[in-house]
Amino acid sequence: MVQIRVSPKIDGVSGWFATSPDHGITIGKSFEDDKDFDFVIIGAGFIGLSLAHRLAERQPDAKIAVIDALKVGEGTSGRNAGFIIDVPHNVDGGKTTPDHDRRLYALNKFAIKRLRDFKDHYAISCDWQESGKYMAARETNNLGNLNHFAAQLKNDGFDYQDFAGDDLAKRLGTSYYQRAIYTKGNVLVNPAALIRGIAKALPPSVSLFEQTPVTEITYGSKHVIRTACGLITAKFIFEAGNIFNSEFGYEKHRLAPVYTYASLTKPLEASDVEKYFSNVKPWGITSAHPAGTTVRYTPDHRIFIRNILRFAPTLTTSKDDLDFALTHHRRSFENRFPMLSHIPFEFTWGGMIAVTLNQNYVFHKPAENIMVLNGCNGVGVAKGTYLGFYAADFISGDNNEEIRFIRENSHPSFIVPDPIRSLVARYRLKKEQAAAGGDL
Ligand SMILES: Cc1cc2nc3c(=O)[nH]c(=O)nc-3n(C[C@H](O)[C@H](O)[C@H](O)COP(=O)(O)OP(=O)(O)OC[C@H]3O[C@@H](n4cnc5c(N)ncnc54)[C@H](O)[C@@H]3O)c2cc1C
Repeated sequence: MVQIRVSPKIDGVSGWFATSPDHGITIGKSFEDDKDFDFVIIGAGFIGLSLAHRLAERQPDAKIAVIDALKVGEGTSGRNAGFIIDVPHNVDGGKTTPDHDRRLYALNKFAIKRLRDFKDHYAISCDWQESGKYMAARETNNLGNLNHFAAQLKNDGFDYQDFAGDDLAKRLGTSYYQRAIYTKGNVLVNPAALIRGIAKALPPSVSLFEQTPVTEITYGSKHVIRTACGLITAKFIFEAGNIFNSEFGYEKHRLAPVYTYASLTKPLEASDVEKYFSNVKPWGITSAHPAGTTVRYTPDHRIFIRNILRFAPTLTTSKDDLDFALTHHRRSFENRFPMLSHIPFEFTWGGMIAVTLNQNYVFHKPAENIMVLNGCNGVGVAKGTYLGFYAADFISGDNNEEIRFIRENSHPSFIVPDPIRSLVARYRLKKEQAAAGGDL
């Protein structure tokens, strides 16, 4: 029997959740009498919900439950920056090969198509924008990373455009950046609205229980899952609880819990839009430095800022951490948009990322009737979608080329235990963030 000591909490109100349609309604069912399932999925993020949809397609007679401690969209899948990334953006020089990159690209494109199909079929209103993305640098020191990225794209055979100076400033509405590499296949969304739309579209064979934290699991030929609302039994359990999977007993020394934080301004005033953004389309920027700032200009004329990486072995964050992040967000915002210093932030929040050292993820079946899925790093919208989809196919008996590739890359490297893990992680994050300079 495994007792779960820490379950997810809401770390500041996510601007995406608060501005998503129908965010006040409960999507899931209330806890009912029939609590015996073929499959139970813990976690209603991109992994868990993608898995639930595919499992229902593959095994239409199976009884499936998805359980989440929070409302759908309040977890990390609804708290991220909303980039659905197609080209692998490995700016820190990790090892890749053209063949590996092209396979990842194919999986990402597959995930984007799957999400687009959900959006179209179920008319999900999530500000879906096929706007591509800029990887941008302000600091001369970080231009090398852009060169590295451009060389990787060229080598892999992916299209890109290189913008600098006035050309770039006109596209962005700010002259803060020196140069950017633009790739066109990235999609920008309100991620909370998207994940909630996907949850609403679950078929009748899937029971969704929101605000139902799992507090204890007794593994066996039939697992017994204790939740805050009562007991559930399952023949098979999928653990898709992001970093909180570490509480369920099967993941040791492969993942680092890292918090990062985001803020969303109020909508810009009409006069500011007219003056500074009249010909600017919504855009998204990731930083040329791995610890730099992600920025978006949204369709409803808000600015989104994400930065600060904080190692969080207790799996929690505090009001002080949110305040610290907010101070940094304000600085990053005003540096990039000094003419908008009168625009306040409306929302600031934190979210947890399960980081692996070698960009591999967890796609692991530690026992005949248990599967653990995790470790999406900062690209879980696309990655979570394809990992969930192929986990359902794998469990249903498939072993195709995609599943083989996924399994080959599901070996996160070993992370030393605490206290050394904490010391090394904190030192590295501090060093990286200092090195980002003006790109933070
Ligand atoms: C600020 C920020 C910006 C990011 N930007 C991007 C981006 O632009 N693009 C991108 O692709 N990725 C981004 N990411 C990463 C991405 O959000 C994650 O990789 C992705 O959401 C992981 O999905 P998941 O399904 O594994 O986990 P989650 O979305 O975290 O889902 C896991 C669910 O499990 C539930 N859970 C956990 N424990 C329990 C329990 N005991 N009982 C019941 N339920 C439980 C949680 O409540 C949660 O809802 C960002 C992350 C953050 C924090």
